[in-house]
Amino acid sequence: MAHRLKEQYKELLDKKGLTYTFERKRIFEEIQKISVHFHVDGLYDRFKKQGERISRATVYRTIPLLLESGVIQKSAGNGKRDFFEKTNAKGHHDHMICVKCEKIIEFHNEKIEALQDEISKHHKFKVTFHDHRLFGYCQKCQ
Ligand SMILES: [Zn+2]
Ligand SMILES: [Zn+2]
Repeated sequence: MAHRLKEQYKELLDKKGLTYTFERKRIFEEIQKISVHFHVDGLYDRFKKQGERISRATVYRTIPLLLESGVIQKSAGNGKRDFFEKTNAKGHHDHMICVKCEKIIEFHNEKIEALQDEISKHHKFKVTFHDHRLFGYCQKCQ
């Protein structure tokens, strides 16, 4: 799975006329080691701690490329910051967030995914990635 994602990532870079640089490679590799949700500064800190010279700006600029190629997806966070997670562990999924206790329920629904594609097609819109979140109260907090 990680191999296929790396190919998708490389293909996207290629399509955009971008090079698979050392930094872009390292960012991809580092994300494979993270099993939890992360934010961009946290990812940057990992390089800093390891003494690698990858700038914060480079990490920030690489995120949209990773999103578009499906290597990572936006994840549920506390709303103050964007959180991401890699897609290869569980595949693409969406989130329900309890606004009271912040419990996160992950779900995947083929009908919703297909419907999104259909609607986008209807509007001649090319989706590169999406972030579908439902906010409300979990069973316990209702
Ligand atoms: Zn989805
Ligand atoms: Zn709750």
